[in-house]
Amino acid sequence: MIKGIAASPGYAAGSVFLLQEAELTISTEQIGSEAVEQEWNHLLQALEQTKQDLRETKQDVAKRIGDEESAIFESHLMILEDPVLTDELKKEIQSERKNAAWAVREVFAKHAAMFASLDDPYLKERASDFRDLEKRVLKHLLGLNDASLESIAEPVILVAYDLTPSDTARLNPDTIKGIITEIGGSTSHSAILARNLQIPAVVGCPEITRKVATGDMVVLDGTNGDVILHPTPELMREYQEKQTVFQANQQRLKASAQKEAVTADGRRIEVAANIGNPSDVKAVLENGGEAIGLFRSEFLFLDRDTLPDEEEQFQAYRQVAEGMGGRPVIIRTLDIGGDKQVPALPLEEEMNPFLGFRAIRLCLERKELFMTQLRAILRASHYGKLRIMFPMIATEAELTQALSILHEAKAELDKEGVAYDKHIETGIMIEVPSAAIIADKLARHVDFFSIGSNDLIQYTFAADRMNQKVGYLYDPGHLAVLRLIRQVVEHANANGIWVGVCGEMAGVPEYAKALIGLGVKELSMTASLIPQIKYEISQHTYAELRERVQQTL
Ligand code: PEP
Ligand code: MG
Repeated sequence: MIKGIAASPGYAAGSVFLLQEAELTISTEQIGSEAVEQEWNHLLQALEQTKQDLRETKQDVAKRIGDEESAIFESHLMILEDPVLTDELKKEIQSERKNAAWAVREVFAKHAAMFASLDDPYLKERASDFRDLEKRVLKHLLGLNDASLESIAEPVILVAYDLTPSDTARLNPDTIKGIITEIGGSTSHSAILARNLQIPAVVGCPEITRKVATGDMVVLDGTNGDVILHPTPELMREYQEKQTVFQANQQRLKASAQKEAVTADGRRIEVAANIGNPSDVKAVLENGGEAIGLFRSEFLFLDRDTLPDEEEQFQAYRQVAEGMGGRPVIIRTLDIGGDKQVPALPLEEEMNPFLGFRAIRLCLERKELFMTQLRAILRASHYGKLRIMFPMIATEAELTQALSILHEAKAELDKEGVAYDKHIETGIMIEVPSAAIIADKLARHVDFFSIGSNDLIQYTFAADRMNQKVGYLYDPGHLAVLRLIRQVVEHANANGIWVGVCGEMAGVPEYAKALIGLGVKELSMTASLIPQIKYEISQHTYAELRERVQQTL
């Protein structure tokens, strides 16, 4: 078995179609001064043709898959239209006397390498966008046409070194039953497209293109990231059956996802979604999300060189508030530092970034930054049902300080006569053990708690959530975690406020059930997990779940 990265759920069994990338041979012969203009014009023409292609792909994807997915190609168009890039290409031809294809390879490879070297997994994946564009432009420059993907007529499992977003957008789900790639991560644009096309996919499979040939049999499990070469006929049948069951289950879940989540004995649980971007709202509603339990607002700050100003943030929050049509939306104030670095806000290097200057600690010191965000959220609260949530609160003093800045922001808006929701609910994340321990004190100041189990577990066990070696300590079902959560719920109940959970454990059926048993009222997770969790909730009584977790405790 080959272990890859689960990129799109589902199972597939079938014969391999190995996508052979024709190695583009590029001459590195310099051109004479008389050829400069001709090479440059040739390149401009290829760039124009590529842009035309991209516009067509964009329209096609918008029609077949959706507007949001087609945005990838809009961003590719913007890259090609960036004068900085064209200037770089021009310089390679004019000053370095490189031929057009050579110049394209140099410039695009340089940008791809720059992104590939970044730590942030999302930004790292942007390297593949440059590789995709390089290939597109070179094909026009060298007059190649690549019909191999279109030539597939029989159902196959597509195996490739890498699939660019352009390749993926061209795939026909009727013939492509599964995808396996050698490189890539689960947040690559190709993985996102595969999920939208509902084609099971495993990416990041070491050496897969050398291990299989066209016509070989293979099975893949896109839910767990497993690939098995040369399976027995029984195993092939087993995977085909698994896929049939998986698809039937998906249909059933989608149908029940739009109903409210209620346990079999009538306890209402709010099932909400975690998002990072206003464009995620569509998927939330499609999956039956009843609210947004965590909008990681820092995503508006990543992937760019400047900070979003109040107006830009206001527009983003308003878009989410309106998009959710009056359903609750919790906006978490900026949580940067730790693993999330913002280019426009360079922070000093720290020995232990996860224990350092992050989230509310940074916002309390950079008051202007915090104030801008609070004003933007408050203004947007006029257009829907927004709630404010502070991350990483560790002490009561931090909380009262944050609340007093919020109070100042409200006073400013009052003075300016700007409308906002005067009753906006305010809460905190419980993700530092000290906050769980003094939950009774903190509960007096806020309207709700949302448990950030990802961090709460990492800090409780002193085990870095990114470090595989200490992964054995990272156990959401551990007595230490359950006891802390029980205590938080008890203190919240005593103060008449509600508790939700927005860490990953909320989306895992086994833990979600334990959380409900502990008295948690809201679970917030990745949108695609909502249908399954709603279904699980409907299958149990609250009494049974409470009894079960009490046994464990
Ligand atoms: C958490 O810590 O559980 C959480 C939801 O926040 P993040 O994963 O963004 O740190
Ligand atoms: Mg956290």
